[in-house]
Amino acid sequence: MALVRPGTPAAAALGESIPPSARRILAELDFLAPLERAALHANRGNVVWWSGEEARSETFPDGQLGFHTDRASLEAVLLGTAERAGVSVLDHATARSAAETPEGWRVVCEREGGPSLEVWGDWVVDATGRHGLVARTEGRRPDRGTSTLALVRRWRRTDGWPDEHAHRTLIESYADGWAWSVPLDDGVRCVAAMIGGRRVRRGRAGVAATLEAELTKTRHLKQALEGATTEGEAWACSASLYTAGRFARPGLLLAGDAGSFIDPLSSFGVKKALSSGWLAGIAAHTALVDSQSTSAAIEFFDRREADVYRRYRNLSAPFFERAAAVYATPYWEVRARAARRAGGEGPDSAADPDRTATELPETEVRAAYEVIRARPTLDAVVSAALRRVDRPAIEGHRIVLQEHLASVRCPEGIRHVRGVDLRQLVASAPGHGEVPDAWAAYNGAAPPVTLPDYLTALATAFAAGFLQHG
Ligand SMILES: Cc1cc2nc3c(=O)[nH]c(=O)nc-3n(C[C@H](O)[C@H](O)[C@H](O)COP(=O)(O)OP(=O)(O)OC[C@H]3O[C@@H](n4cnc5c(N)ncnc54)[C@H](O)[C@@H]3O)c2cc1C
Repeated sequence: MALVRPGTPAAAALGESIPPSARRILAELDFLAPLERAALHANRGNVVWWSGEEARSETFPDGQLGFHTDRASLEAVLLGTAERAGVSVLDHATARSAAETPEGWRVVCEREGGPSLEVWGDWVVDATGRHGLVARTEGRRPDRGTSTLALVRRWRRTDGWPDEHAHRTLIESYADGWAWSVPLDDGVRCVAAMIGGRRVRRGRAGVAATLEAELTKTRHLKQALEGATTEGEAWACSASLYTAGRFARPGLLLAGDAGSFIDPLSSFGVKKALSSGWLAGIAAHTALVDSQSTSAAIEFFDRREADVYRRYRNLSAPFFERAAAVYATPYWEVRARAARRAGGEGPDSAADPDRTATELPETEVRAAYEVIRARPTLDAVVSAALRRVDRPAIEGHRIVLQEHLASVRCPEGIRHVRGVDLRQLVASAPGHGEVPDAWAAYNGAAPPVTLPDYLTALATAFAAGFLQHG
């Protein structure tokens, strides 16, 4: 596998807040331990001042912290790990074109201070972010009404930031924008304002002046920056949203920001890119070792990427709607409508879009759980309406067709919920009067799971109509 990369990543100085929920995918990719060793600035939580409401703070548990870092430091760690895993890195190189030929993809690269060279391959993963070397020509489209510019600069405090902010991402909305600040070490924070696309004054000085003016619209962030001095130049980059009409076809996968860009408000961009890159690797590997599975692999990747984008938009909709209700400005009203349009009506069933969704609304699963709790005995029987359907799923490093359980309520089928195999659960639950006995029977037949995870899966099996009470 060859990785083509310029020496310095685009927006190398940009701060990134990586939440603890990214730890799972980081561990899966063997990045977690190197990131811990790199001693990045710990991410202990966030403080959000949204639409004039009371501050909402989230504190991450010790031992399960996230990371604060700039892009350049993050990439350096990821790159070293990729190289150790055998990826051949073409450093200080920029891909200028990628063309499909009868012999495969021909990627022409320009190398700093050297002659241009060609890289050939059967598969290309476009992971060039917003630049979208191939993605741009694959029908990527803007999410209308969300033209946003990020104005960014660093601030330093020689005496350090107060404890309540030192390891936290700070977010504050205002009438026609929102601001964000990520600590990079004990003294430096990266600060950005996300504004409507056309409001910036020209030139570096114009960007700096516009950013200063935007920050005066905040209350808490302005206070937090009092006594701090700016460091380095201010700069601007696009934070407008877009998504691809199609994320994959034979020979091509669009990973991370190359395929879609979600609102930085979520702090999920890096995690989304990592998951997307991981799955792109699995999809390409599947097609290379078993060409008959190419369509299944592509379809799986494409559906998941489209769904992830929709769910992130769904998650952001209530924030924009609250801001639109309070500020009643075009900035928020347009964004609220766009998020709802792209994210769908009503809340999504999965609070975290990267988690395997139960594919049933949480309220239904909870209602089924309450019934289980209220009954004297479990008395589970397999429903006559239970069907079995084959659907693509990840198994190891492959995408394979896997049997899923389906019903009228869940026509597309579910296989796993919180790591619990529903086939095993449905096979082992009947015949047990008590939930702990059913759980023990499951753990005797399959890799053990915790009781809370088992209970969620059990409630899902009832809510989906796979099991019923006898
Ligand atoms: C203002 C702002 C704040 C953000 N804050 C956060 C945050 O707090 N937390 C978070 O998780 N996310 C945040 N994000 C989003 C996050 O930065 C991205 O979602 C994430 O970096 C996407 O990763 P990626 O690898 O897909 O793309 P990128 O990080 O953009 O990486 C693409 C890479 O491709 C390289 N490249 C480009 N063109 C070529 C070419 N032709 N040939 C070779 N290489 C090329 C670039 O140099 C770069 O290294 C923020 C974004 C913005 C704009």
